[in-house]
Amino acid sequence: MLFGAHCPGGVKKALDNGAAMGAETVQLFVQSPRTWRFPEHDPADLEEFRSKREEAGVPVLVHALYLVNLAAPDDAIYSKSVDTMRATVDTACVLEADAVVLHLGSHLGAGFETALERLVPAVEQVLDRCNDRTWLLMENSAGAGGTIGRSLDELAAVFTALGRHERLGVCLDSCHLFVSGVDVTDASTWSALLEDLDQRIGLDRLRALHANDAKAPLGSNRDRHDNIGEGLIGEGLGVFLAHPKLQALPVVLEVPGADGKGPNADEIRKLRELHARATS
Ligand SMILES: [Zn+2]
Ligand SMILES: [Zn+2]
Repeated sequence: MLFGAHCPGGVKKALDNGAAMGAETVQLFVQSPRTWRFPEHDPADLEEFRSKREEAGVPVLVHALYLVNLAAPDDAIYSKSVDTMRATVDTACVLEADAVVLHLGSHLGAGFETALERLVPAVEQVLDRCNDRTWLLMENSAGAGGTIGRSLDELAAVFTALGRHERLGVCLDSCHLFVSGVDVTDASTWSALLEDLDQRIGLDRLRALHANDAKAPLGSNRDRHDNIGEGLIGEGLGVFLAHPKLQALPVVLEVPGADGKGPNADEIRKLRELHARATS
């Protein structure tokens, strides 16, 4: 496994910040995560990222803006979301990122079937801009409100509705699985889910993991990440990491860190140690 983190600093600094914390995988935002405005990236910055990354040889994931909702019932939000995703994927392709990780969005009460009708044409436009190098990964959701992707059923339904698109994959988040009711600390539950995923989507489509502990209980649908070993998953996160079929994947931390400033070297070290204990 390649252990890394969501790194601050965007296109200009994320790789350096990742290297400083010993990250073997770097996830980044290519815009401020809390505003719609998409920056005009200086082509020289993108080129510098690309060459630095080639030297470092680390997998790179771009995380989409949190405001994006490709199932939004509101037309204005929907079209802003599509525009943002197109710009995000275009930038990720220039960076030669391995994937863009996307939260599918929320139907905000309209129901899953209605959401699917909004979602499919939007995601198709985004997938059109991906390429063989840079995929789109759907992340499973914590299941709060009307969020889409709360279960394997929903992810598989979206995958099928998109015609099993050749550049569409999945990223599974341990905290989101746990709070949506999947006990990833139980080896048989976790391997049953992966077997199910293999049959309905294909394990080769699982391209990244997010390793986060959870502050909220199993099945609570509350998206509250905790530091490694400090939450309700605790040592059980080792079960999530130890599955033999996942050992080639990049693993990204999205934890608050001791100081609330996000992942750091200490969290990556704890994750590596947990994995070593669980696989020894
Ligand atoms: Zn995540
Ligand atoms: Zn989360």
